[in-house]
Amino acid sequence: MSNPILVTGGAGYIGSHTVRLLASQNRKVVVLDNLAYGHRDAIIDEGVELVIGDVGDRALLEKLFDQHQFGAVVHFAAFAYVGESVTDPLKYYRNNTAEPLTLLETMQAKDCKVFVFSSTCATYGVPDAVPIVETNKQDPINPYGRSKLMLEWILRDCETAWGLKSACLRYFNASGSSADGKIGEDHDPETHLIPRVLMALTGEISHLDVFGTDYPTPDGTCIRDYIHVEDLADAHAKALDFLAANGDSIRCNLGTGVGVSVKEIIDAAEEVTGRKVPVKFGPRREGDPPQLLADPRLAKELLGWEASRKDVREMVRGAWAWMNGPNSGRYEK
Ligand code: UDP
Repeated sequence: MSNPILVTGGAGYIGSHTVRLLASQNRKVVVLDNLAYGHRDAIIDEGVELVIGDVGDRALLEKLFDQHQFGAVVHFAAFAYVGESVTDPLKYYRNNTAEPLTLLETMQAKDCKVFVFSSTCATYGVPDAVPIVETNKQDPINPYGRSKLMLEWILRDCETAWGLKSACLRYFNASGSSADGKIGEDHDPETHLIPRVLMALTGEISHLDVFGTDYPTPDGTCIRDYIHVEDLADAHAKALDFLAANGDSIRCNLGTGVGVSVKEIIDAAEEVTGRKVPVKFGPRREGDPPQLLADPRLAKELLGWEASRKDVREMVRGAWAWMNGPNSGRYEK
Protein backbone atom coordinates (compact mmCIF):
# COMPACT_ATOMS: atom_id res chain seq x y z
CA MET A 1 0.00 0.00 0.00
CA SER A 2 1.32 3.44 -0.89
CA ASN A 3 2.09 6.13 1.66
CA PRO A 4 -0.78 7.99 3.34
CA ILE A 5 -2.14 11.23 1.92
CA LEU A 6 -2.51 14.40 3.97
CA VAL A 7 -5.68 16.29 3.06
CA THR A 8 -5.78 19.82 4.45
CA GLY A 9 -9.26 21.32 4.67
CA GLY A 10 -10.66 17.83 4.26
CA ALA A 11 -13.68 18.66 6.44
CA GLY A 12 -14.85 21.35 4.02
CA TYR A 13 -17.27 21.02 1.13
CA ILE A 14 -15.05 19.84 -1.72
CA GLY A 15 -12.47 18.36 0.66
CA SER A 16 -14.94 16.07 2.39
CA HIS A 17 -16.26 14.66 -0.88
CA THR A 18 -12.69 14.02 -2.00
CA VAL A 19 -11.78 12.35 1.30
CA ARG A 20 -14.75 10.02 0.94
CA LEU A 21 -13.74 9.06 -2.55
CA LEU A 22 -10.09 8.46 -1.61
CA ALA A 23 -11.15 6.37 1.39
CA SER A 24 -13.47 4.31 -0.84
CA GLN A 25 -10.43 3.61 -3.04
CA ASN A 26 -8.68 2.17 0.03
CA ARG A 27 -6.18 4.99 0.26
CA LYS A 28 -5.01 5.94 3.72
CA VAL A 29 -6.06 9.51 4.43
CA VAL A 30 -5.29 11.89 7.29
CA VAL A 31 -7.33 15.11 7.38
CA LEU A 32 -5.91 18.31 8.85
CA ASP A 33 -8.63 20.92 9.36
CA ASN A 34 -9.00 23.71 11.91
CA LEU A 35 -12.81 23.51 11.59
CA ALA A 36 -13.03 27.28 11.03
CA TYR A 37 -15.42 26.49 8.20
CA GLY A 38 -15.15 22.71 8.02
CA HIS A 39 -17.43 20.26 9.82
CA ARG A 40 -16.41 17.34 11.99
CA ASP A 41 -19.49 15.43 10.78
CA ALA A 42 -18.43 15.77 7.15
CA ILE A 43 -15.81 13.08 7.82
CA ILE A 44 -17.87 9.92 7.86
CA ASP A 45 -15.38 7.16 7.11
CA GLU A 46 -14.16 5.37 10.21
CA GLY A 47 -10.70 4.81 8.77
CA VAL A 48 -10.04 8.51 8.22
CA GLU A 49 -8.21 10.32 11.01
CA LEU A 50 -9.23 13.94 11.59
CA VAL A 51 -6.54 16.11 13.15
CA ILE A 52 -7.81 19.50 14.25
CA GLY A 53 -5.18 22.12 13.62
CA ASP A 54 -3.70 24.75 11.33
CA VAL A 55 -1.74 24.43 8.12
CA GLY A 56 0.67 27.00 9.55
CA ASP A 57 1.42 25.00 12.72
CA ARG A 58 4.95 23.82 12.04
CA ALA A 59 5.34 21.63 15.11
CA LEU A 60 2.08 19.84 14.39
CA LEU A 61 2.99 19.33 10.73
CA GLU A 62 6.42 17.94 11.60
CA LYS A 63 4.85 15.53 14.03
CA LEU A 64 2.28 14.38 11.48
CA PHE A 65 4.85 13.95 8.69
CA ASP A 66 7.12 11.93 11.00
CA GLN A 67 4.23 9.80 12.16
CA HIS A 68 2.72 9.06 8.73
CA GLN A 69 5.43 9.53 6.08
CA PHE A 70 2.97 11.18 3.71
CA GLY A 71 3.46 10.46 0.04
CA ALA A 72 1.32 13.39 -1.09
CA VAL A 73 -0.63 16.42 0.10
CA VAL A 74 -4.00 17.52 -1.21
CA HIS A 75 -4.42 21.12 -0.12
CA PHE A 76 -7.96 22.48 0.20
CA ALA A 77 -7.65 24.58 3.36
CA ALA A 78 -8.46 28.17 2.37
CA PHE A 79 -10.94 30.99 2.81
CA ALA A 80 -13.19 31.48 -0.18
CA TYR A 81 -15.50 34.47 0.26
CA VAL A 82 -14.68 36.88 -2.55
CA GLY A 83 -16.47 39.85 -0.94
CA GLU A 84 -14.71 39.35 2.38
CA SER A 85 -11.38 39.12 0.58
CA VAL A 86 -11.98 42.66 -0.70
CA THR A 87 -12.75 44.10 2.74
CA ASP A 88 -10.18 42.01 4.63
CA PRO A 89 -7.42 41.16 2.14
CA LEU A 90 -4.76 40.39 4.73
CA LYS A 91 -6.91 37.62 6.18
CA TYR A 92 -6.85 36.00 2.72
CA TYR A 93 -3.16 36.55 2.00
CA ARG A 94 -2.32 35.23 5.48
CA ASN A 95 -4.48 32.13 5.28
CA ASN A 96 -4.38 31.25 1.59
CA THR A 97 -0.87 32.33 0.65
CA ALA A 98 1.33 32.69 3.73
CA GLU A 99 0.22 29.76 5.92
CA PRO A 100 0.78 27.17 3.16
CA LEU A 101 4.46 28.19 3.10
CA THR A 102 4.89 26.33 6.39
CA LEU A 103 3.25 23.29 4.81
CA LEU A 104 5.55 23.50 1.78
CA GLU A 105 8.63 24.00 3.95
CA THR A 106 7.70 20.92 5.92
CA MET A 107 7.17 18.96 2.72
CA GLN A 108 10.59 20.02 1.49
CA ALA A 109 12.21 19.06 4.78
CA LYS A 110 10.45 15.69 4.86
CA ASP A 111 11.02 14.99 1.16
CA CYS A 112 7.35 14.84 0.19
CA LYS A 113 7.08 16.05 -3.40
CA VAL A 114 3.49 15.66 -4.57
CA PHE A 115 0.98 18.50 -4.08
CA VAL A 116 -2.54 18.75 -5.41
CA PHE A 117 -3.87 22.28 -5.06
CA SER A 118 -7.41 23.71 -5.02
CA SER A 119 -7.02 26.58 -7.39
CA THR A 120 -9.85 28.47 -8.99
CA CYS A 121 -11.20 30.03 -12.15
CA ALA A 122 -11.08 33.28 -10.14
CA THR A 123 -7.38 33.37 -11.08
CA TYR A 124 -8.46 34.32 -14.61
CA GLY A 125 -10.38 37.42 -13.50
CA VAL A 126 -12.60 38.71 -16.30
CA PRO A 127 -11.60 36.32 -19.06
CA ASP A 128 -10.32 37.78 -22.31
CA ALA A 129 -12.01 34.89 -24.15
CA VAL A 130 -14.50 32.10 -23.33
CA PRO A 131 -14.46 29.15 -23.07
CA ILE A 132 -11.40 29.65 -20.89
CA VAL A 133 -8.32 27.66 -21.80
CA GLU A 134 -5.45 27.27 -19.36
CA THR A 135 -3.25 29.60 -21.38
CA ASN A 136 -5.75 32.46 -20.96
CA LYS A 137 -4.26 35.43 -19.15
CA GLN A 138 -4.47 35.04 -15.36
CA ASP A 139 -5.39 38.47 -14.07
CA PRO A 140 -7.55 38.10 -10.95
CA ILE A 141 -9.83 40.96 -9.96
CA ASN A 142 -10.00 40.34 -6.21
CA PRO A 143 -7.66 39.37 -3.35
CA TYR A 144 -9.17 35.87 -3.18
CA GLY A 145 -8.11 35.13 -6.77
CA ARG A 146 -4.72 36.74 -6.21
CA SER A 147 -4.13 34.76 -3.00
CA LYS A 148 -4.65 31.55 -5.00
CA LEU A 149 -2.65 32.64 -8.04
CA MET A 150 0.33 33.50 -5.85
CA LEU A 151 0.34 29.97 -4.50
CA GLU A 152 0.29 28.64 -8.07
CA TRP A 153 3.45 30.69 -8.72
CA ILE A 154 5.07 29.51 -5.50
CA LEU A 155 4.46 25.90 -6.52
CA ARG A 156 6.23 26.46 -9.83
CA ASP A 157 9.23 27.94 -8.04
CA CYS A 158 9.33 24.99 -5.64
CA GLU A 159 9.42 22.66 -8.63
CA THR A 160 12.41 24.49 -10.06
CA ALA A 161 14.20 24.58 -6.73
CA TRP A 162 13.50 21.18 -5.21
CA GLY A 163 11.44 19.14 -7.63
CA LEU A 164 7.95 19.51 -6.14
CA LYS A 165 5.34 18.09 -8.52
CA SER A 166 2.05 19.89 -8.35
CA ALA A 167 -1.40 19.81 -9.91
CA CYS A 168 -3.19 23.16 -9.82
CA LEU A 169 -6.84 22.33 -10.32
CA ARG A 170 -8.80 25.42 -11.29
CA TYR A 171 -12.35 24.76 -10.18
CA PHE A 172 -15.32 26.39 -11.77
CA ASN A 173 -18.61 26.43 -9.74
CA ALA A 174 -18.66 23.44 -7.39
CA SER A 175 -22.19 22.25 -6.70
CA GLY A 176 -24.38 19.30 -5.70
CA SER A 177 -23.86 16.77 -2.94
CA SER A 178 -22.89 13.14 -2.48
CA ALA A 179 -25.15 10.72 -4.35
CA ASP A 180 -26.37 9.15 -1.09
CA GLY A 181 -27.12 12.57 0.46
CA LYS A 182 -24.88 11.83 3.48
CA ILE A 183 -22.61 14.82 2.98
CA GLY A 184 -23.16 18.10 1.17
CA GLU A 185 -22.68 21.85 1.11
CA ASP A 186 -23.00 23.78 4.38
CA HIS A 187 -21.49 27.26 4.32
CA ASP A 188 -22.17 29.90 6.93
CA PRO A 189 -22.87 32.42 5.54
CA GLU A 190 -24.13 30.74 2.38
CA THR A 191 -23.55 32.96 -0.64
CA HIS A 192 -23.68 30.46 -3.52
CA LEU A 193 -26.45 30.54 -6.05
CA ILE A 194 -27.83 26.98 -6.01
CA PRO A 195 -28.18 26.68 -2.20
CA ARG A 196 -29.65 30.17 -2.02
CA VAL A 197 -32.24 29.35 -4.68
CA LEU A 198 -33.22 26.32 -2.62
CA MET A 199 -33.18 28.30 0.65
CA ALA A 200 -35.68 30.66 -0.99
CA LEU A 201 -37.87 27.60 -1.60
CA THR A 202 -37.65 26.25 1.94
CA GLY A 203 -38.35 29.71 3.39
CA GLU A 204 -34.92 29.93 5.04
CA ILE A 205 -34.60 33.21 3.12
CA SER A 206 -37.60 35.23 1.93
CA HIS A 207 -36.54 35.35 -1.73
CA LEU A 208 -33.60 35.05 -4.08
CA ASP A 209 -31.90 38.27 -5.17
CA VAL A 210 -30.76 37.95 -8.77
CA PHE A 211 -27.62 40.02 -9.11
CA GLY A 212 -27.93 41.81 -12.43
CA THR A 213 -30.15 41.35 -15.48
CA ASP A 214 -28.28 43.58 -17.91
CA TYR A 215 -25.21 41.45 -18.63
CA PRO A 216 -24.20 40.85 -22.25
CA THR A 217 -25.59 37.29 -22.18
CA PRO A 218 -28.67 35.86 -23.96
CA ASP A 219 -31.01 36.34 -20.95
CA GLY A 220 -29.07 39.16 -19.28
CA THR A 221 -27.96 37.13 -16.24
CA CYS A 222 -24.47 35.79 -15.53
CA ILE A 223 -23.32 32.51 -16.98
CA ARG A 224 -21.30 30.02 -14.95
CA ASP A 225 -19.99 26.47 -15.38
CA TYR A 226 -21.49 24.36 -12.57
CA ILE A 227 -19.44 21.25 -11.84
CA HIS A 228 -20.61 18.39 -9.63
CA VAL A 229 -18.63 18.11 -6.40
CA GLU A 230 -18.18 14.35 -6.87
CA ASP A 231 -16.70 14.97 -10.31
CA LEU A 232 -14.27 17.40 -8.70
CA ALA A 233 -13.35 14.74 -6.15
CA ASP A 234 -12.66 12.26 -8.94
CA ALA A 235 -10.26 14.72 -10.60
CA HIS A 236 -8.20 14.91 -7.38
CA ALA A 237 -7.85 11.13 -7.24
CA LYS A 238 -6.75 11.11 -10.88
CA ALA A 239 -4.31 13.99 -10.32
CA LEU A 240 -2.71 12.07 -7.43
CA ASP A 241 -2.26 9.02 -9.64
CA PHE A 242 -0.89 11.14 -12.46
CA LEU A 243 1.75 12.79 -10.28
CA ALA A 244 2.63 9.55 -8.49
CA ALA A 245 3.34 7.99 -11.87
CA ASN A 246 5.99 10.68 -12.36
CA GLY A 247 3.78 12.92 -14.42
CA ASP A 248 4.92 16.51 -14.79
CA SER A 249 3.30 19.35 -12.90
CA ILE A 250 0.00 20.36 -14.42
CA ARG A 251 -2.46 23.23 -14.29
CA CYS A 252 -5.92 22.50 -15.55
CA ASN A 253 -9.50 23.64 -15.52
CA LEU A 254 -12.17 21.52 -13.90
CA GLY A 255 -15.50 22.37 -15.44
CA THR A 256 -18.13 20.83 -17.66
CA GLY A 257 -17.80 23.20 -20.59
CA VAL A 258 -21.56 23.89 -20.31
CA GLY A 259 -22.61 27.45 -19.50
CA VAL A 260 -25.74 27.99 -17.40
CA SER A 261 -27.29 31.37 -16.57
CA VAL A 262 -28.76 32.44 -13.24
CA LYS A 263 -32.23 32.33 -14.77
CA GLU A 264 -31.60 28.81 -16.05
CA ILE A 265 -30.62 27.72 -12.53
CA ILE A 266 -33.92 29.10 -11.23
CA ASP A 267 -35.78 27.24 -14.01
CA ALA A 268 -33.91 24.02 -13.13
CA ALA A 269 -34.81 24.41 -9.44
CA GLU A 270 -38.47 24.96 -10.30
CA GLU A 271 -38.46 21.89 -12.53
CA VAL A 272 -36.73 19.67 -9.95
CA THR A 273 -38.87 20.77 -6.99
CA GLY A 274 -42.14 21.59 -8.73
CA ARG A 275 -42.25 24.90 -6.83
CA LYS A 276 -41.97 28.54 -7.81
CA VAL A 277 -38.86 30.37 -6.58
CA PRO A 278 -39.61 33.81 -5.07
CA VAL A 279 -37.24 36.11 -6.93
CA LYS A 280 -36.28 39.79 -6.85
CA PHE A 281 -34.29 41.12 -9.75
CA GLY A 282 -31.68 43.58 -8.55
CA PRO A 283 -28.42 45.28 -9.41
CA ARG A 284 -25.15 43.58 -10.27
CA ARG A 285 -22.88 42.26 -7.51
CA GLU A 286 -19.48 43.93 -7.49
CA GLY A 287 -16.77 41.88 -9.19
CA ASP A 288 -18.93 39.32 -11.03
CA PRO A 289 -17.61 38.56 -14.54
CA PRO A 290 -20.51 38.13 -17.04
CA GLN A 291 -19.42 34.70 -18.16
CA LEU A 292 -17.10 32.04 -16.75
CA LEU A 293 -16.97 28.87 -18.76
CA ALA A 294 -14.27 26.21 -18.84
CA ASP A 295 -12.70 24.59 -21.79
CA PRO A 296 -12.24 21.24 -20.01
CA ARG A 297 -10.25 19.43 -22.72
CA LEU A 298 -6.83 19.61 -21.09
CA ALA A 299 -7.98 17.73 -17.97
CA LYS A 300 -9.30 14.99 -20.23
CA GLU A 301 -6.08 14.81 -22.18
CA LEU A 302 -3.81 14.77 -19.12
CA LEU A 303 -5.86 12.96 -16.50
CA GLY A 304 -8.43 11.06 -18.52
CA TRP A 305 -10.98 13.03 -16.49
CA GLU A 306 -14.20 14.60 -17.59
CA ALA A 307 -17.39 15.60 -15.83
CA SER A 308 -19.79 12.68 -15.68
CA ARG A 309 -22.75 14.97 -14.93
CA LYS A 310 -23.26 17.92 -17.21
CA ASP A 311 -26.95 18.55 -16.65
CA VAL A 312 -27.31 21.18 -13.94
CA ARG A 313 -30.60 19.62 -12.83
CA GLU A 314 -28.52 16.77 -11.38
CA MET A 315 -26.58 19.23 -9.21
CA VAL A 316 -29.81 20.90 -8.12
CA ARG A 317 -31.49 17.55 -7.40
CA GLY A 318 -28.54 16.50 -5.20
CA ALA A 319 -28.48 19.80 -3.33
CA TRP A 320 -32.25 19.55 -2.78
CA ALA A 321 -31.95 15.97 -1.47
CA TRP A 322 -29.23 17.10 0.96
CA MET A 323 -31.38 20.01 2.18
CA ASN A 324 -34.31 17.71 2.73
CA GLY A 325 -32.28 14.84 4.18
CA PRO A 326 -31.75 13.96 7.86
CA ASN A 327 -29.37 16.91 8.35
CA SER A 328 -31.67 19.43 6.58
CA GLY A 329 -28.57 20.63 4.78
CA ARG A 330 -26.73 21.59 7.98
CA TYR A 331 -24.12 19.78 10.01
CA GLU A 332 -24.17 19.96 13.79
CA LYS A 333 -22.29 23.04 14.96
N1 UDP B 1 -25.99 34.98 -7.73
C1 UDP B 1 -27.22 35.61 -7.63
N2 UDP B 1 -27.85 35.61 -6.41
C2 UDP B 1 -27.30 35.03 -5.30
C3 UDP B 1 -26.06 34.37 -5.41
C4 UDP B 1 -25.43 34.38 -6.65
O1 UDP B 1 -27.75 36.15 -8.61
O2 UDP B 1 -27.91 35.10 -4.21
C5 UDP B 1 -25.30 34.95 -9.03
C6 UDP B 1 -23.92 35.58 -9.00
O3 UDP B 1 -24.03 36.96 -9.28
C7 UDP B 1 -23.19 34.81 -10.08
C8 UDP B 1 -23.84 33.43 -10.04
O4 UDP B 1 -25.08 33.60 -9.36
O5 UDP B 1 -23.46 35.38 -11.34
C9 UDP B 1 -23.01 32.40 -9.29
O6 UDP B 1 -22.64 32.95 -8.04
P1 UDP B 1 -21.96 32.10 -6.90
O7 UDP B 1 -21.77 33.03 -5.73
O8 UDP B 1 -22.72 30.85 -6.67
O9 UDP B 1 -20.56 31.68 -7.50
P2 UDP B 1 -19.36 32.55 -8.13
O10 UDP B 1 -19.48 32.38 -9.62
O11 UDP B 1 -19.50 33.96 -7.67
O12 UDP B 1 -18.15 31.89 -7.58
